[in-house]
Amino acid sequence: MATGSNHRDVLIEYYSDTTMKHIVLMEQDGEREVIITDNQSNIIQSSKENIGVLEKYIPTGTDINLNTDKILASDWEGLPYIISAHPYKVDSGQSGYILMFQSTRSIEQLVGKLNLYFGLAGVTSMVALLLIYATLSKFLTRPLIRMKEATEKLSEGNFNVSLPFIGNDELGELSGSIQKLANDLERLKTERNEFLASIAHELGTPLTYLIGYTKVAMRPGVNEKDRKHYLSIIAEESDRMKELVKNLLDLARMDENTFTVSKEYFKVRPFFDDIFQLVGPSFNMKKLGLELICEEDIEIHADPLRLEQIILNLLDNALKYSTEKSIVEVKVSKTGDMSVISVTDFGIGIPSEEIEFIFENLYRVEKSRSRTSGGSGIGLAIVKELVEAHDGTIEVESSLGRGSTFTIMI
Ligand code: ADP
Repeated sequence: MATGSNHRDVLIEYYSDTTMKHIVLMEQDGEREVIITDNQSNIIQSSKENIGVLEKYIPTGTDINLNTDKILASDWEGLPYIISAHPYKVDSGQSGYILMFQSTRSIEQLVGKLNLYFGLAGVTSMVALLLIYATLSKFLTRPLIRMKEATEKLSEGNFNVSLPFIGNDELGELSGSIQKLANDLERLKTERNEFLASIAHELGTPLTYLIGYTKVAMRPGVNEKDRKHYLSIIAEESDRMKELVKNLLDLARMDENTFTVSKEYFKVRPFFDDIFQLVGPSFNMKKLGLELICEEDIEIHADPLRLEQIILNLLDNALKYSTEKSIVEVKVSKTGDMSVISVTDFGIGIPSEEIEFIFENLYRVEKSRSRTSGGSGIGLAIVKELVEAHDGTIEVESSLGRGSTFTIMI
């Protein structure tokens, strides 16, 4: 259309045989043909010697009255040419048409090529999509399905879950958290079972004594001295049982937050003097020194009964896990409003990999170690709950074979 109307403009401006020949010459070697006619449809010039098939497209009859450029045939799939007609009329009176014939072969080739390219692009996209799908399913879906299966196992009470490491992204973190949850649950389950076994043992042993000695004490003919001895053993074992049950109840109450802390100000010295008097005999028995290091007039803001419970538990551990003839130091100082209380012993210490667990309910380092020393893994759990009920913190520094320091900020 553009070339045709260009030719027409040139022809109107320089109408002559030479101009027509030039127009025809320009189109001779290309994909296009041009035919110039007069208004009677007689061919004046043509770029093709033997116009043959082109002839039937030359406008006749009603078409002859065309007065604007027009596409006469546009069906590139059905016809060998796309044809446009461009009417001209010059001042000297001559008029007619420039007819442009664009061969459709090149368009077909182009479309063929395009089809091929689109086909190739389609196949490549499919392959790429399949690859992306496979990758996504490997990196996204499959780990997700694994995690879902793992959580289902957990909810059924089976904590034996093993998720592979899948990286440090969000998915990897989620997988890591599920694995940690499973490990923690597994450990809690074992701890609970061990604790129940240990409670059964702790309660069972004194009960055996109680029953045994009661029967013996009831026997006729037992003299008064022996009976008293048996009764004192019964009383001692009952006390042990009472203490254990009390500790268990304390822990249960603390877990449910059903106890209160009523803070007051009190002097450090007298408070610790009372405690030292209480524990003194047991320390003496093990030939352990017990020292208080603090300024005279320091005051602590805490619940004295609860703090006593905390200190007694820490001293009890220091006593249990100290080597004979060493010392246990209690230091008290102030930083701002907070009191810092530390209990240091020079005993067997705690393995570094166990330190993070010792405050957990029922956790005992080396079960045999605690059993020989009478522990059941409740003391530090109670201490931690009590310290936290004061909005305080507790930390431990320990090295195996050298001793431990428990520090409370309260
Ligand atoms: P237990 O009644 O068994 O002593 P705790 O909760 O008081 O239970 O302590 C937990 C574990 O921490 C104990 O099994 C013990 O091995 C360890 N532990 C606590 N205090 C000390 C300490 N001062 N020195 C060495 N080990 C300690």
